[in-house]
Amino acid sequence: MPTFFLMIFSLVMALFASPWAAGAEEEALVIYSARKEHLLKPLLDIYRQKIGGVAIRYLTDGEGALLARLQAEGSATPADLLITVDAGNLWSAAEKGMLAPVDSPVLTANIPEPLRDPGNRWFGLSVRARTIVYSTERVKISELSTYEDLANLSWKGRLCLRSSEKIYNQSLVAMLIARLGEPATERMVRGWMANLAAPVFSNDTKLMEAMVAGRCDVGIVNTYYFGALQKDKPKTSLALFWANQQTSGTHINISGAGVTRHAKHPAAALKLLEWLSTPEAQGLFAELNMEYPANPQVKPHAFVATWGDFKGEALNVSLAGRFQADAVRLMDRAGYP
Ligand code: FE
Repeated sequence: MPTFFLMIFSLVMALFASPWAAGAEEEALVIYSARKEHLLKPLLDIYRQKIGGVAIRYLTDGEGALLARLQAEGSATPADLLITVDAGNLWSAAEKGMLAPVDSPVLTANIPEPLRDPGNRWFGLSVRARTIVYSTERVKISELSTYEDLANLSWKGRLCLRSSEKIYNQSLVAMLIARLGEPATERMVRGWMANLAAPVFSNDTKLMEAMVAGRCDVGIVNTYYFGALQKDKPKTSLALFWANQQTSGTHINISGAGVTRHAKHPAAALKLLEWLSTPEAQGLFAELNMEYPANPQVKPHAFVATWGDFKGEALNVSLAGRFQADAVRLMDRAGYP
């Protein structure tokens, strides 16, 4: 019967026209992001509008979980772009062959050399500093100078630190190894341990809460966690101090991204990555998490700028990855939990 065939035909056509059909899904650019959804979605919304409604799907998860997933999926991964925090994570992903080198004059022009992989497999998109935070009630600014100095006797029973399990501290110690060598770095870490006022903390926010409560006078944190505290309590008794300004510069790290080795849409992934490095995207990318733009043409947000200018470490952030395993072993030897 003709009506029967018409019905079947309509059903088949409806299936093909469905936005949920497999064909349409495969056309979407897929992002694996350790940067949380509220820090990513506003940018993707602008990008979608700009280039006319490209389909983008993203999966957000913890740094470690995403890397494990990407590795386990291998060539079958749907991920085109990996966005994650910490140069140590990007370095690991690249070392394990999960990221593809790209040849992009846009990225090499927009992102300074110290903030990107020498092999062009990943690029920094925002900068965070990991620096000294101190109690304005119990510390005179003249007492403060360097990370190394926090190992001195004058800080005995006054220092609070986050656990060495967090990659942020592994990267900090890795960069110290790159600069000072292992023996000097180990002496310093042992000095830190001798000066601890409290057991190590599971995150930077808890550390600062302990400082406010008077348990310790000085600590080391990422700038945006201090920013979050300051937004919450503008009259906080804590302040940031830019470490190592007379010497090597304050330790900086990045969040960044790379096109995956097995991307199904490598050109679209690169196009988005390039856009994220442009002045148009960089202001918002940094501002959303109270970080510094990686592109030096873009000024930090006014709130972040109130912390003042500082000299950042000039070494390539990839060294945080290169010396990561050494840093973990060193902290273990020195009894840094
Ligand atoms: Fe963080």
